[in-house]
Amino acid sequence: GVLQILTGLRYPDRMSQRDNMSEKKIATPSVTRNLMQTHTIRAKKSLGQNFIIEPQVIDNIVTAAGCDKQDLVLEIGPGLGSLTQALSNTAGQVIALEIDQSLIPALKQSLAACANVQLLHADAMTADLSRILAEAYQASPNLRPDFMAVANLPYYITTPLLLRFLQQPDLPWRRLVFMVQKELAERMQAAPGSKDYGALSLAVQYRAQARLAFSVPPSVFLPRPKVASAVIVLERLAAPSVQPVDEDLFFAVIRAGFNQRRKTLPNSLSSVLQLPKEQVNAALAAAGVAPERRAETLTMAEFARLADEIKNISG
Ligand code: SAM
Repeated sequence: GVLQILTGLRYPDRMSQRDNMSEKKIATPSVTRNLMQTHTIRAKKSLGQNFIIEPQVIDNIVTAAGCDKQDLVLEIGPGLGSLTQALSNTAGQVIALEIDQSLIPALKQSLAACANVQLLHADAMTADLSRILAEAYQASPNLRPDFMAVANLPYYITTPLLLRFLQQPDLPWRRLVFMVQKELAERMQAAPGSKDYGALSLAVQYRAQARLAFSVPPSVFLPRPKVASAVIVLERLAAPSVQPVDEDLFFAVIRAGFNQRRKTLPNSLSSVLQLPKEQVNAALAAAGVAPERRAETLTMAEFARLADEIKNISG
């Protein structure tokens, strides 16, 4: 109202100064190097530490996330706080899990102005995410009940971390926005018949719609990784894309199919699933999948039919 306008007019210099201070971006080479020097931090390869030093990349990640002030955002691996800072500006609440204790003092400094960030020293692989989220929702009941996870992931645990979200359906996420190795992003969104299509594509596309948002070169990170990276956006589906009778068997069939790529489908299924060849052949016939097909040509629906027939026949 009027009061705000007056305040803004009365203290224009002070206002803009404060804005500049809280807007001082962490994702630049100078601020990053400065923080690292002040806190004697050396990037740890073993923890996948590659810090983003290009503010445009941070902006592009936040745009891909599309979060607003009603959103609870979970960040894995805040590092020096570059992405956390930008998420804090756009989201309602941010929970950031950082495994490396030696980064915590730097994060406290860089995020001092970010009141809506909860920083936790924790391992994202083992942390009780359900409990952490439930507590956040209890404290802020006005936030949207389905959260987003946004992260520049430590590449050494991309797949297991992703599987944590995909295989824990009671975790109420609606969107995952992850910087990953480009090659992995391509596998996540690959379609049947493409060289990148495999068990990961199916695990992802069972629960989500995958979209590669943009790619970035190694030069946007300090230190530079060896490979190109990309941001993948996984939009959760209202229900899994197929409804196999036995979900565990469905994924076991997928793994078996891709396990021994040089073997024929009947051979790898019968050896990995330890089923008689006749049963596998009967299931393939009942599912309408020709025995000479390669696993990388089977659609999600075909894998589901095949798993259901194997269940039928093997009892
Ligand atoms: N978000 C920062 C950025 O974009 O500049 C840092 C990203 S860096 C690729 C990955 C971060 O994840 C590091 O800070 C690392 O210490 C942290 N990290 C590695 N393993 C983790 C784990 N299991 N749980 C939580 N954080 C982890």
